[in-house]
Amino acid sequence: MADSTSIEWTEATWNPTTGCDRISPGCTHCYALNLAKRLKAMGQPKYQRDGDPRTSGPGFALTMHEDALLEPLRWRRPRKVFVNSMSDIGHARVPEAFTARIFATMALAQQHQFQVLTKRPRHLRRLLESQKFVDMVWAEMERLSSDDTVPLPRLVRSGVRQRAAHWNALSPWPLPNVWIGTSIESDEYCRRAVELRRTPAAIRFLSLEPMLGPVPSLDLTAIDWVIVGGESGPQHRPLDLAWVRDIRDLCTDRRVALFFKQVGGPTPKAGGRLLDGRTWSQYPTTAATEAAGA
Ligand code: SF4
Repeated sequence: MADSTSIEWTEATWNPTTGCDRISPGCTHCYALNLAKRLKAMGQPKYQRDGDPRTSGPGFALTMHEDALLEPLRWRRPRKVFVNSMSDIGHARVPEAFTARIFATMALAQQHQFQVLTKRPRHLRRLLESQKFVDMVWAEMERLSSDDTVPLPRLVRSGVRQRAAHWNALSPWPLPNVWIGTSIESDEYCRRAVELRRTPAAIRFLSLEPMLGPVPSLDLTAIDWVIVGGESGPQHRPLDLAWVRDIRDLCTDRRVALFFKQVGGPTPKAGGRLLDGRTWSQYPTTAATEAAGA
């Protein structure tokens, strides 16, 4: 079964890695870091290694989970899947070979749309634009489709073989079902969008959450989707709706899909998600939705 989630803009989460280290002000009240501490106390096996107390915390050491790598292949119902809601795939200590295995699973699980979000877009860009990395993804796909010891149900295995057979040297890269995004909390971090713009991706998106200030430098060239939200929790930093109006107007002007997730406050739902009396729950147009006439 897929991991269910209360995150409004996705339908499931998949965590082949867990844990991370804080790198910028948007990380100060990291939801994942706090949740990992609770999951460790509950005895959850994925959250038993402690990270550096200066940048991470209990149960939040960066950890690779081999046994989670194939999970989305077993989920038959198509869904949007947020990759690494409890980590950052762009973390420098995620081995390149492991990231290639994550991308091989996404390439073979074509029924899903994967949403990959990082605060380290430069590292991810360098990987995704490298032919060596693409070759590693391809080699892993071949292994998954031909190795009978890989633990997959029979029906799933035959689907994997069919998909791998259609993915050859001429196949699409970037992967058509993988969205790549980066988080920006304030104007200083608009430079992350510059890296994202140069990243090979079918869909590029920005997460302005928690939004901590106005972002007048934001350029939406080559961006398909923007998520905006205020911070929640006991120490939340307040959102000024004027910042969100600026983003709404920019998105409307540039015809970029907008998802306003929450105003924020002591709890995620405390402030609601209305902006001037309406909700914004748009998604980008993908090849899959176009094919379905959506
Ligand atoms: S990069 Fe993301 S997961 Fe990592 S500490 Fe910052 S907010 Fe948390």
